[in-house]
Amino acid sequence: MIEEKKALFIIFGGTGDLANRKLYPSLYRLFKKGYLKEHFAVIGTARREWSDEYYREIVISKIEDLAESEEHAKEFASHFYYQSHNVKDIEHYKTLQSLAERLDTTYQLDGNRMFYLAMSPNFFGIIAENIKSQQLLTETGFNRLVIEKPFGNDYESALKLNDHIRASFNENQIYRIDHYLGKEMVQNISTIRFGNHLIESMWNNRYINNIQITLSEALGVEERGGYYDTSGALRDMVQNHILQMVALLAMEPPTVFRDNEIRQEKIKALRALRLYSEEEVRTNFVRGQYGRSTINGETLSGYCEETNVSENSQTETFVAGKLFIDNYRWAGVPLYIRTGKRLAEKGTQIDIEFKNVPHQLFQTANDQPLPPNILSIFISPTEGFALQLNAKKVGPGVQPEPINLTSSHSAETTANSPEAYEKLILDCLNGDATNFTHWDEVAASWKFVDRIRAAWDTAEIEFPNYPSGSMGPIESMHLLKKDGFNWHWSPVTTIKDTTED
Ligand code: NAD
Repeated sequence: MIEEKKALFIIFGGTGDLANRKLYPSLYRLFKKGYLKEHFAVIGTARREWSDEYYREIVISKIEDLAESEEHAKEFASHFYYQSHNVKDIEHYKTLQSLAERLDTTYQLDGNRMFYLAMSPNFFGIIAENIKSQQLLTETGFNRLVIEKPFGNDYESALKLNDHIRASFNENQIYRIDHYLGKEMVQNISTIRFGNHLIESMWNNRYINNIQITLSEALGVEERGGYYDTSGALRDMVQNHILQMVALLAMEPPTVFRDNEIRQEKIKALRALRLYSEEEVRTNFVRGQYGRSTINGETLSGYCEETNVSENSQTETFVAGKLFIDNYRWAGVPLYIRTGKRLAEKGTQIDIEFKNVPHQLFQTANDQPLPPNILSIFISPTEGFALQLNAKKVGPGVQPEPINLTSSHSAETTANSPEAYEKLILDCLNGDATNFTHWDEVAASWKFVDRIRAAWDTAEIEFPNYPSGSMGPIESMHLLKKDGFNWHWSPVTTIKDTTED
């Protein structure tokens, strides 16, 4: 049953890329489905001087491909209002407050407000402060603050930012977005674990050999060089998306499948991450940077040649690492992670490798051990599962061979399933914080990541060290090899040339 939601959305950064590409289409999808109907309004704010009419035209142009009809798109856009706003100017919040009051009455919104900060994190604290001081928070309805990543660039800055925001909003009013948590197959990690006794009863160090998480991007930094060069793969991908997947894979079953209970378990898992010494970072982590390569006759620039990137940059575009969760369930089980840009193939995949049979009864070619059972979770672009088992090869004798039980969402299901942002906005309207990160998760993640960054910052490294179209530096393979494992997902590389100096 679809229940109409009542809310005023105030989007800070209403002319920006995120608003245009993600927020307006997601709000329209919710409108199309009936979650948003008559009782909603949107105020877009940014510095430019725009009229409501012009803003509505822009919004319509961003949902063109999705719109049922021109009429329907216009009806949706009629709920949008624009305010030219400088986030540092107190007077502008006063104007915003009177517009918000007026729309609250016109659309009967019951004082429900969602403040969406779709702009640079430098402004998050000041906006939250001014929202409170200029009395934009209502007494009658809900007040929810949605914040984009990055949340700080280390533990100290994240703490400072959090303190600033918490002076105006309670933890349960803050929704920190990690759009990976809106992905269908990331949400499926809990279902496959807690919905199957077969799986969950084996989900521990007695049966699992290792876990591998790969978040691979085929593109380079494109036009984000300026931002990326101050961030790097560790902060951009590991601190948030990868550690969130680690938490979901490692957490204990919650007593109830509800936001507070789930987040408490995730926090415990993240706090159990082993914090490395400088020496341990060197043994357990690998960093890389892509160099210039020629792929299929096309020459791609190296990272240091990209726009807005320093020519001697020490920023990593690749990270691989071995993590340990120090608790009863996971003692001794390595979790390998890797992420990078300009890799051989785009995709996010989790592979869980189970231990081998305790005693091998079957003869294999060259007397090799039987291949391990592997549960693969395909997050994107393919969405699905595969379970690798050993079965009898058809024919005489008893020769085992690996088979794969697979299930994947059809292209149609994937295309029609709600986009991450659509799901997350709806969750926020419902007051369900399951798929948003709690401050304690952010804090534990930064504490882990800061150790790696600190160790890396003590020594320069010879970059570039992997060519575009490969799966990163060779040391990433060695990381597993020295433990007797391999990356299960090894896309065929398209390298035609090696890295140039
Ligand atoms: P953007 O630069 O495209 O947009 C920034 C917006 O802020 C613009 O509307 C601009 O007018 C407004 N702005 C800037 N200074 C202002 C001021 N002083 N007063 C009022 N308005 C001001 O940025 P974006 O790509 O939309 O990103 C917004 C946030 O979302 C960032 O935190 C970013 O890290 C995060 N994010 C973006 C994406 C994405 O796909 N674009 C993905 C994940 C996270």
